Amino acid sequence: MGRFAPSPTGPLHEGSLVAALASWLDARFHEGRWLVRIEDVDGPRCSPAHTSTILGQLRRLGLDWDGEPVYQSERGALYRQALEELSSRGWTYPCGCTRKEVPGIYPRTCASGLNGKTARSTRLRTSRGEEEIVLDWHDRWLGPQRQNLTREVGDFVLRRADGIWAYQLAVVVDDAEQQVTHVVRGQDLVDNTPRQLHLQRLLGYPHPAYLHTPLVLAADGQKLSKQTGATALDLSDPVGALQRAARVLGLPPIPGSKPAVWLEQAARVWPG
Ligand code: GLU
Repeated sequence: MGRFAPSPTGPLHEGSLVAALASWLDARFHEGRWLVRIEDVDGPRCSPAHTSTILGQLRRLGLDWDGEPVYQSERGALYRQALEELSSRGWTYPCGCTRKEVPGIYPRTCASGLNGKTARSTRLRTSRGEEEIVLDWHDRWLGPQRQNLTREVGDFVLRRADGIWAYQLAVVVDDAEQQVTHVVRGQDLVDNTPRQLHLQRLLGYPHPAYLHTPLVLAADGQKLSKQTGATALDLSDPVGALQRAARVLGLPPIPGSKPAVWLEQAARVWPG
């Protein structure tokens, strides 16, 4: 089971199409299902208009999905349940620090008590007593990966001070609940993966296989993103857009003048 999980903060751009295409091809290559999950937990940054633009773009590209799209904004009860489970086992603690007080890795100020502060967010522990947690894992694109979660990330937020569920918790709960076995997404997210592996382990969920696709860089070498002002995909020629994304994935030129035909051919040459 694969999935594409866009945050509706803007339309798809050339970079997000690379991740969507790779994930779609991977699912179809393995004769699996492909789900679309709208990651709209961060309400104020997301809009239903962007969601319908994204779904329209996927349709026009022939990237058809199975079932109905799922909306994270409707799944708070599942995230709460997982948080309660972690809390009941002592893996979380309330944190009273403001963002300004925590410029980098959290110094664990509230790890053993609030010391008179008011609880704001909820954090997850990334160490067991004195013992550090080091994650070794395999990425299907990048090969062996390692991260010392305790030192390189530190205790991270699961529920923000404004009540919004953190991406890390929502994505792990949803991938498990939707039985996603193959996560394919952009390399900008690769250093989030150990946080997700840690959560999966604590919650007793299986680990999906991970593949992080190359990023499309803007002319100035910056990562292409909505923040750096990436323009929406030009869909006057959907096959051309697919072919450009395929090149980033190292796929050969693929014939076909209609997206459906092109995609069928591309799934055959996907390296799996
Ligand atoms: N919603 C995330 C994004 O648009 C992707 C999450 C994921 O694929 O795990 O960047």
